[in-house]
Amino acid sequence: MQAKNAAKRRNLFTQLVFSKIGRIGERKQSAEAGTQKSKVEPHGFKLLTLNAQLLVVCSGFRPPLIFALMQLLNGKETSQAIKDSLKLGVAQLATHGAPVPHLVAVLVGNNGASETYVASKVKSCQEVGFKSTLIRLEEETTELKLLEIIRELNTDPDVDGILVQLPLPAHISSQEVINAIDPSKDVDGFHPINVGRMVLGQSTFLPATPYGIMLLLEHYKVETAGKHAVIIGRSNIVGRPMSVLLSGSGNPGNCTVTICHSGTKNLADFCRSADILVAALGRPGFVKEDMVKEGAVVIDVGITRIKDASKKSGYRISGDVDFPAVSPKCTFITPVPGGVGPMTIAALLKNTYKACAQKHFD
Ligand code: NAP
Repeated sequence: MQAKNAAKRRNLFTQLVFSKIGRIGERKQSAEAGTQKSKVEPHGFKLLTLNAQLLVVCSGFRPPLIFALMQLLNGKETSQAIKDSLKLGVAQLATHGAPVPHLVAVLVGNNGASETYVASKVKSCQEVGFKSTLIRLEEETTELKLLEIIRELNTDPDVDGILVQLPLPAHISSQEVINAIDPSKDVDGFHPINVGRMVLGQSTFLPATPYGIMLLLEHYKVETAGKHAVIIGRSNIVGRPMSVLLSGSGNPGNCTVTICHSGTKNLADFCRSADILVAALGRPGFVKEDMVKEGAVVIDVGITRIKDASKKSGYRISGDVDFPAVSPKCTFITPVPGGVGPMTIAALLKNTYKACAQKHFD
């Protein structure tokens, strides 16, 4: 009977805490710092919210129970703030006689996900007042033809940024195509020269997704110095550059970094030791609750389309993290969608702006 009551009490606690987490996690950051709210819940527990990170529960328990509270790293809001500042930047460029930044996106074939990504990049350009051009090419386009188009774009003075949407059809070498882009127009930051500059800590175009994550960490003032960051995934576009940026000496940065991949043994142990866990492997719901340390910061990069007949589109988007189970343990976590995705686009726009400004004023 006693055990049953204890379980009931624990359940009640869990519900209570989780309902708080849900509400508090959605609040704006500005409303959180330093606020003190106290409320007696119907259950009879007194909740004292010191700030977004802590929930203090006072009841018959001594000392009071203190729970870490999760805060969403809201990529949608943060990217909007960046876009708003880019709009002002465009106006400033105009007052100095520079044209608006111009991004050219090249899409080869009919990959549904790529179509969606390119469409939202083009839309975001329009939103901030950039010029954008979408070049659509047939799936059968040869590598030679694509390289020729890139050479034309390289020499076109009206073009500031070039992005070739990946993946490319199997008969085209992505690396050859990336290598062909003029590094000063490589706003995706994939060209070997720009990758080299990033590794050396020199000014460059940072790869959009890791750059977007750094901007998000910066926006929410997430402490990174001295933390152990574990990254799952070592791709050239996400995992590897993420490891370079987090281990760099800037802020955010100064992390001690572990990079995991499909050959890593005891991956869950590494994850459990992470203060900051970046999941970039493309396996829906891979990161489970028992792989995450209490109070960790979790960045979910994964985007996988899963068939879902209940959705108008016929699919839903899933991240690499089991969000409902993992989020209550985190201090910060990115949602999917609405986390890293919009930040990638914001970072791409920032790079395009930089390419334009460098061309006209450096
Ligand atoms: P990728 O090129 O396929 O790389 C995946 C990485 O994860 C590889 O290094 C792979 O290891 C590792 N991996 C796969 N399964 C694993 C496992 N079971 N255990 C440990 N490591 C494993 O993918 P990506 O391009 O980096 O993208 C990763 C995810 O992020 C995808 O879902 C993608 O759609 C998403 N993404 C999102 C954005 C955004 O804007 N939000 C941008 C880019 C990508 P190996 O190297 O050993 O094969």
